[in-house]
Amino acid sequence: MKQHLTNPVFEIIAQVAAEMQLNAFVIGGFVRDLLLHRDNKKDIDIVVLGSGIDFAQQVAARLEGKVPVKYFRNFGTAMLNYQGWKVEFVGARRESYRRNSRKPIVEDGTLVDDQNRRDFTINAMAIDLTEPTVGRLIDPFNGIRDLERKIICTPLDPDITFSDDPLRMMRAVRFATQLDFTIDPACLEAIRRNAGRLSIVSMERISDEFNLIIGAAVPSRGFRLMDETGLLELIFPEFCELKGSEIIDGKGHKDNFYHTLAVLDNVAAVSDNLWLRWAAILHDIAKPATRKFVSGTGWTFHAHEFKGAKMVSPIFRKLKLPLNEKMRYVEKLVLLHLRPIVLAEDVVTDSAVRRLLFEAGDDIDDLMLLCNADITSKNPVKVKRYIENFGLVRNKLREIEEKDKLRNWQPPITGELIMETFGIPPSKVVGVIKNLITEAILEGQISNDYDSAYRLMLVEGLKLGLKKE
Ligand code: ATP
Ligand code: MG
Repeated sequence: MKQHLTNPVFEIIAQVAAEMQLNAFVIGGFVRDLLLHRDNKKDIDIVVLGSGIDFAQQVAARLEGKVPVKYFRNFGTAMLNYQGWKVEFVGARRESYRRNSRKPIVEDGTLVDDQNRRDFTINAMAIDLTEPTVGRLIDPFNGIRDLERKIICTPLDPDITFSDDPLRMMRAVRFATQLDFTIDPACLEAIRRNAGRLSIVSMERISDEFNLIIGAAVPSRGFRLMDETGLLELIFPEFCELKGSEIIDGKGHKDNFYHTLAVLDNVAAVSDNLWLRWAAILHDIAKPATRKFVSGTGWTFHAHEFKGAKMVSPIFRKLKLPLNEKMRYVEKLVLLHLRPIVLAEDVVTDSAVRRLLFEAGDDIDDLMLLCNADITSKNPVKVKRYIENFGLVRNKLREIEEKDKLRNWQPPITGELIMETFGIPPSKVVGVIKNLITEAILEGQISNDYDSAYRLMLVEGLKLGLKKE
């Protein structure tokens, strides 16, 4: 193991440990990822049998350059950044929990105490950094075996582990999804039993784990696990509403829960953008609310894209997701998600493409990714037709984009110019004229340049009784 501890920081930790005559270990995610040959995201957790804060101070003093250390005295931890690595130090501790809080009572402890408080066997392994036993693996719960069997399992009785800190249930699903592991059946049962305990965890922490699940290579696996255990219903009931189908007059509709998961996996296969993945999750969210059976036609979900876009902000608010431009991006994609398909089904006219480009702006490529991912039909003839028509839409988009440069386009006539030209104050009329010009350009009635737009402004102004000053 020793030869894998190539980071120079380990050498320094060993020196400090020798001088202070105490033991230090690297523990948790770093050890797990090392054994899995998995790219580590550059954080290293160090446990020392002594004060983590004093230890960090000593390490920082020996590192090259001025390395700032952040101290969290309340938690007895310290953190430093060194050459892009985040190294966190903590004294070994024993934890005990009260019923109504996930914040433990903490006392100094041994390495084993510290390993006992860890969430999973694969996250509880430690490697000794102290001479003469540098590189020795300390693995009291046989985490190595669970890595080989690809199993997520708690070191102690899972009912206790999950009840003590219910966030660990989300973490179990998160690691199973990220690592493509199975949750041990007894643990899975315990999650089912303890799911309700999630209520003592803040939504911010839940969403952090949820977003890591969504960021995994095949996020649907995590959704299925959360669904099976009852966690999904607790944190995101709107999503569970998508489940099922009903048959009337021999007509059913697809199960939108599994459809949405397929769309999410499709998007995940082509993009790492978390917010595009959220758009996939939410694109059909209003289908349950808009579902109607129309005799002669079958099932309809009229205006589910409008209603869905409106549901984005309350959902983001509840899940403590950011209420900023990321949310607006998701709203926009949900609102527009049918447009390229409708376009593809119809004759692809220049004006329809122009309009779509204008509305989607820079997000047009993401919108096309989402729409492509939305094709989950099992009927190969349908799929072939969609994909071919999609190709047409793409070509047309490219052609019009080159010609008209409509991405992030602003109409050539501003409101200020309209006010100045006719000598009028800010008023509704200004908006009306501006809109008419925009419409005329999008419809292709006039070309997209200043002179044509200026002429139209004068004409429309005149119709409204305005004259050039
Ligand atoms: P990642 O690669 O995502 O950082 P990680 O295993 O390093 O995974 P962290 O959240 O960084 O996870 O936590 C570091 C270590 O701290 C874990 O490996 C685990 O041993 C321990 N840990 C973190 N959160 C908990 C928790 N809620 N309960 C028990 N142990 C935890
Ligand atoms: Mg980590």
